[in-house]
Amino acid sequence: MDHAAISLPVIESPRGRSDEERAKIAEELLRLDVGEVRFDRHSRLVYSTDASLYQVEPIGVVVPRDVAAVEAIVRFCAGRGIAVLPRGGGTSLAGQCTGRAVVVDLSPNCRRVLEVDAAGRRCRVEPGIGIDELNRWLEKNGAQGGAGLFFAPDPATVAQATIGGCIGNNAAGARSIRYGRTSENVAGVEVVLSSGERVWLEEGAGRKSPTARRLAKRVAAVVHENAAEIRRRFPKLIRRNAGYGLDMILEQLDRGVSEDDLDLSGLICGSEGTLAVVVAANLKLSVLPKARGLAVVSFADLDAAIAAVGGILGTGPSAVELLDDQVIRAAQGNAECRAYVELLPKLAGATPAAALYVEYQAEQSAAELEAFFAALRNVAGTNALVTYSDAGTMGRAWTLRKASEALLHGLPGKAKPVTFVEDNSVPVEQLGRFVTEFKRIVARHGTTAAYYAHASVGVLHIRPMLDLHESADREKMLAIATEAAALAKACGGVMSGEHGDGRVRGPLLEAFYGPQIMTAFKRIKTIFDPVGILNPGNIVDAPPLASIAQNLRVDGESPAIDLSKVDTYYQYAWAEGFAGAVEACNGAGFCRKTSGGTMCPSYRATLDERHSTRGRGNAIRVAVTGQTREGQASSSPDWNDPGVLGTLDLCLGCKACKTECPTNVDIAQLKSEYYAQRYRQLGGAPLRVRLFGNVRRVNQIGSMMPGVANWMGRLGLVHRMLGLSPQRSLPAFAPSLHRWFHRRAAPPMAGRRRVAIWADCFVTYSEPHIGRAAVAVLEALGYAVELPAGGCCGRAMISTGLLDQAIGTIDRTLAAMRSVIDDGGVEAIIVLEPSCLSAIKDEWLKLKLQTDLPTRKRLVEKAMSIEEFVERRWERHPSRPIVPPVSALAGRQMLVHGHCHQKALWGMEPTAAALRRVAGPHVRILDSGCCGMAGAFGYAAEHYDLSMKIGELSVFPPVRSAGPDALIVATGTSCRHQIRDGAGRDCLHPAEVLAMGWCGAGVPSVLAL
Ligand SMILES: Cc1cc2nc3c(=O)[nH]c(=O)nc-3n(C[C@H](O)[C@H](O)[C@H](O)COP(=O)(O)OP(=O)(O)OC[C@H]3O[C@@H](n4cnc5c(N)ncnc54)[C@H](O)[C@@H]3O)c2cc1C
Ligand code: SF4
Ligand code: SF4
Repeated sequence: MDHAAISLPVIESPRGRSDEERAKIAEELLRLDVGEVRFDRHSRLVYSTDASLYQVEPIGVVVPRDVAAVEAIVRFCAGRGIAVLPRGGGTSLAGQCTGRAVVVDLSPNCRRVLEVDAAGRRCRVEPGIGIDELNRWLEKNGAQGGAGLFFAPDPATVAQATIGGCIGNNAAGARSIRYGRTSENVAGVEVVLSSGERVWLEEGAGRKSPTARRLAKRVAAVVHENAAEIRRRFPKLIRRNAGYGLDMILEQLDRGVSEDDLDLSGLICGSEGTLAVVVAANLKLSVLPKARGLAVVSFADLDAAIAAVGGILGTGPSAVELLDDQVIRAAQGNAECRAYVELLPKLAGATPAAALYVEYQAEQSAAELEAFFAALRNVAGTNALVTYSDAGTMGRAWTLRKASEALLHGLPGKAKPVTFVEDNSVPVEQLGRFVTEFKRIVARHGTTAAYYAHASVGVLHIRPMLDLHESADREKMLAIATEAAALAKACGGVMSGEHGDGRVRGPLLEAFYGPQIMTAFKRIKTIFDPVGILNPGNIVDAPPLASIAQNLRVDGESPAIDLSKVDTYYQYAWAEGFAGAVEACNGAGFCRKTSGGTMCPSYRATLDERHSTRGRGNAIRVAVTGQTREGQASSSPDWNDPGVLGTLDLCLGCKACKTECPTNVDIAQLKSEYYAQRYRQLGGAPLRVRLFGNVRRVNQIGSMMPGVANWMGRLGLVHRMLGLSPQRSLPAFAPSLHRWFHRRAAPPMAGRRRVAIWADCFVTYSEPHIGRAAVAVLEALGYAVELPAGGCCGRAMISTGLLDQAIGTIDRTLAAMRSVIDDGGVEAIIVLEPSCLSAIKDEWLKLKLQTDLPTRKRLVEKAMSIEEFVERRWERHPSRPIVPPVSALAGRQMLVHGHCHQKALWGMEPTAAALRRVAGPHVRILDSGCCGMAGAFGYAAEHYDLSMKIGELSVFPPVRSAGPDALIVATGTSCRHQIRDGAGRDCLHPAEVLAMGWCGAGVPSVLAL
């Protein structure tokens, strides 16, 4: 065989397709009726990145309606010589999910569980389902046979990675020492070949399908011919993910497996979409362990920790994970993670410089864990060892390990941890040498790196600190990449142990495997994909070495817009400036999770990449860095891109991303900035935006004549004028809280300690009964209550992007409130509406106001919810009321839904604790995400369906199933409205519940207005 003679058709030019070609392809795909065909510039840009460093604009995007459509797309593209790139969660770190191709996003619609065979511990699924989703499904549908079974591979991205992507990358996680990689957990795959044939590849497939037999015969021939070289060149490690897994085929042939029985599914695992498109997979399921236990062992330095790994492996752990001093130091500087550092045992009273997380699994009973821990104590060589077996503490300890990368990203300075040599895998006994020599490499290039991750299998996620905006650092990147790959090889390892080859390691394969294996790879590629359309340029025919530092998302070569010159409305200290905020999203895709927390409601309801936080982050980044104007050199941001506006439109501004995104990407803030810049450029905002933004003024007027205003609201005129959904009722106006407050017969104030209530526009003009309840509660606690006429917090203006107006308004409000803020006698300012409190706590500190920052910070210290005030100062209140034995709350179940801003900024704990003081253990804080209303969002006619869909995800169902006697509590005004519209239940504010508990007989007069 002339190894050099095999060449694949080069089918996509680096310049991509012309507009005419693209339009024609899109037209033909539309005619095929395969699903959503998105070939517009905006969609192409949204799909131009994955979690890697790279950005390559695809030809277009298709979201197939089902797997049959995938077949049609591949057939069509093969016939026209058009590249195809299958995509799942798009969380690849090596750039294998970026390319000049038609991207086929299988994640939204190809996600069914097709069959479960509990006895045989198998399930058959479509490729778009996520690992977590599958495991949740198996748990939930225990009756169908999934009970106690789970799919074991556990990459750190289990919440967002798809089965198809796990197969594509042969994913594996911390427990791979126990469960292996995806290839060890797959029993067969159904694939579409570029010939258009659809075939199952599994053991014995050759007996059923001529296509499978043909493939197996040809693959076996290649492997036979190269057997000696495969034995010589392939690393003998659990974690090996470079090139095609020819060693897995050789291992079968060595066992005497016939060509008819040959299982080719292992070859598809790790093939990065280059051989075939997976449309179904038969997965092996594992039995869930009875219990898990975690030991955390501290060490004086990294070398000592690494030296201990070999002995620890002898005790049978399911995972051994490493943290070094850089990660631990970064965690100490992080408000959330500092607490988790406390879970590391101290060494001579000090925080350790390295730690190992050692996990064990008990198969029969939890008691087995003790024996494991005892064995560990014998070999660990240190007493600095703690063990945990309760799920909560283990979860908190693991949080620190899992947050490692994000923590390093948060370190100040332009140099950030860069993902390009994060995947080396070496024999565990070589780890010490590898780390020592790696440190020399990075030191030689004038930088540093942190060392952490899967010590059990010799895979350390090392990310050198570089600033890729600098050409010198891009050169360093290239040099470090080649030197690190050579080092891994010299240590008996490989440079791709987990994340695959893609753009960042594909060019290094030849040096690792040599020409003979590379030719074998090409032959494999041509057996499966003779026309070369499947994810070209990956694994085989990779571009030259220099390409490792090209096509970077941070493209230092393009005429950069100097973002430091943009006159922003916010300051961006959290991201070291506007440019940092715009580039903060690293693409890891945690915002694509579908359960737990709140981020990102619109993604959860649509399963559309465009409507994920990442989609919005990408949209804003490309617009602000001037990439949206095709073919034009941009010297200024594009504040008026229709695609970006469409993508931002479905952001509910819930702030969940600000907290739940590991790098704290704050899309609500960036959206507000983008809109404000746009309005500045246009010379003003549309009428509807101005009316939504000025809700306080509208409420003030409505509250003057509530009867008339409410009657007019019911006529539908306002709905039509503002484009509101006809299914929505408007919030009712009521006589102002001020009127009641100043006319009432207040209890004597003299000598009492004082608190103030913030007269927000919802409580003041629409829900004054909540204000009355709050006054009753605060007076029951023994305070004199004040209701200063402050002004607007600007929430609605901020959310709609009226930032010019918001800044002026907030400054005026601050001036009006100054005496209260500075009055040491006013102990707290109670803000009853969470979205107003969030404006004060968050945006007021970040907007470029005239008012000095210390004044704003003093307000933040004083401003709090009534629940927080009640709870945090419980021991200090002038009096502490008790709930009478016979109370309206007695024995009643209480479901509490928290406002998104509250969950994102100050949490639900104070609410839960305060309510439990009056309602005891019956209080249940719902594990609910966003309700879908989000201020004015859910009122808009065009958002109504999505708003209701979001409500259905996690809020309406538990409310509907609550008994008629149950109390439903919601902290936010829009949440209360949404629950009434969507689940038909009236909700109480926590202040009302506290009043019901403590004010006893006074309740009816407090609540009934
Ligand atoms: C923070 C972070 C941590 C990570 N940790 C780990 C880890 O611990 N272990 C690990 O293994 N990986 C890890 N990864 C990498 C990545 O998340 C995993 O490999 C994951 O399994 C990829 O799944 P995905 O659905 O996002 O795949 P994608 O990125 O969408 O695709 C992955 C590859 O598979 C191909 N592909 C996708 N679908 C199909 C299909 N239907 N048919 C054929 N080919 C297909 C794609 O073309 C691509 O080449 C991590 C990534 C990040 C960002
Ligand atoms: S928005 Fe946050 S969670 Fe989503 S991909 Fe970007 S960095 Fe990750
Ligand atoms: S603010 Fe909420 S809706 Fe908007 S991107 Fe963030 S998580 Fe998604």
